[in-house]
Amino acid sequence: MSILDIRVLGDPILREDTKPVTEITDELRALVRNMFETMYLAKGIGLAAPQVGRTERLAVVDVDDNPLVIINPEVVHAEGKEKGEEGCLSIPDVYGDVERPARVRVRATDLDGKQIELEADGLFARCLQHEIDHLHGKLFIDYLSVLKRRSALSKWSKEKDKYPGFIRKLEDDPTRTHEHPDEEL
Ligand SMILES: [Zn+2]
Repeated sequence: MSILDIRVLGDPILREDTKPVTEITDELRALVRNMFETMYLAKGIGLAAPQVGRTERLAVVDVDDNPLVIINPEVVHAEGKEKGEEGCLSIPDVYGDVERPARVRVRATDLDGKQIELEADGLFARCLQHEIDHLHGKLFIDYLSVLKRRSALSKWSKEKDKYPGFIRKLEDDPTRTHEHPDEEL
């Protein structure tokens, strides 16, 4: 298990489209384990492959102790509207209100290669949409009004020097408690 470096705003990979996953290999399973570990250490509820420098179309999420891998996910139905605050592990310390569909149905493949369908609302729906956006080069700041985006980017311009090469290194603390053991994958 290893902790992965997180790419932050400015790294071009965050703006690229991903490639659909065609085969679930051991390497991919290891990537998923590392992504979960990295997400938990960073105290996130979602992490998409481009955020760790990868081009596979997959993300991991965990809202309300429900860890899920979504491979080649797609929103197949969306309804309602809801505004809520979002942040992103790739834009640390920057937050903004984003309006998104309140309820979504997402179709994806799981790590066993089975097709799954998720009905989501609330934070879970928001998280799924945020991660799926990442898989297509889109970030939450893209939804902000011009003024709010300008203020978010000005906050970021003061933060970004902490991340040379657009890389955010998480400290791997061996004494930390494992709230989410491997079995939960
Ligand atoms: Zn994000």
